Amino acid sequence: MTPFDALSTPLSRRLREGLDRIGAVMRADQWGVAEEAGLTPTQLHALTFIAGRGDAGIRLRAVAEHLGVTQPTATDSIAALVRKGLLTKLADPKDARAVAIRITPAGCDVVRAIGLAITSTERALESLSAKEQSTLLELVIKTIRALQEAKAIPPQRLCVTCRHFRAYVHENAELPHHCAFVDAAFGGRHLRLDCGEHDEAPPEARHAAWRAFDRRAEDFAPG
Ligand code: SF4
Repeated sequence: MTPFDALSTPLSRRLREGLDRIGAVMRADQWGVAEEAGLTPTQLHALTFIAGRGDAGIRLRAVAEHLGVTQPTATDSIAALVRKGLLTKLADPKDARAVAIRITPAGCDVVRAIGLAITSTERALESLSAKEQSTLLELVIKTIRALQEAKAIPPQRLCVTCRHFRAYVHENAELPHHCAFVDAAFGGRHLRLDCGEHDEAPPEARHAAWRAFDRRAEDFAPG
């Protein structure tokens, strides 16, 4: 016990304060990147999200859910992106009465250019060692998953919730996980946050995979 235990605000609150500060820089970064591309931050976010959905496209409601905005706000952003020629609307292949939104070749060019823009947040993250970045990635995934389980955010296409994910099935400390989709081993640094091949595992399998992943991740966590 040290006097600091009584003097300090709870650790989780200080972490949130720190993340708030990083979040503010990330928002400023986003404004800069969006402005350069002639988009608003919401349009930028919508465009990069839809770009990852492939040729089948995605429904408006899913876009609104992912962005955490109302459907009218998402509709406005999508309409602006369609006018700019970056998105197109087409009949949903799964339901001819519904509309899916898909990225155009011009939209892909913009997303590629945005992806090449190095932000100040990215530069700061690059100042961490490779091991620190990998550990941080696992902690970010753990936090995102907790938010998803609490239904604070819509389902994300994470490896740890995918039916193809096998946690710690290889003895190789660098590549302990396995992706059954590509049938290959991979490491913590390769864990994905938004995989196009993601297939949500049923709840029981998801929880079992998470227990296997989390228990071993804690075994390997720095003391
Ligand atoms: S298919 Fe994608 S999300 Fe699923 S385990 Fe493989 S890399 Fe991860």
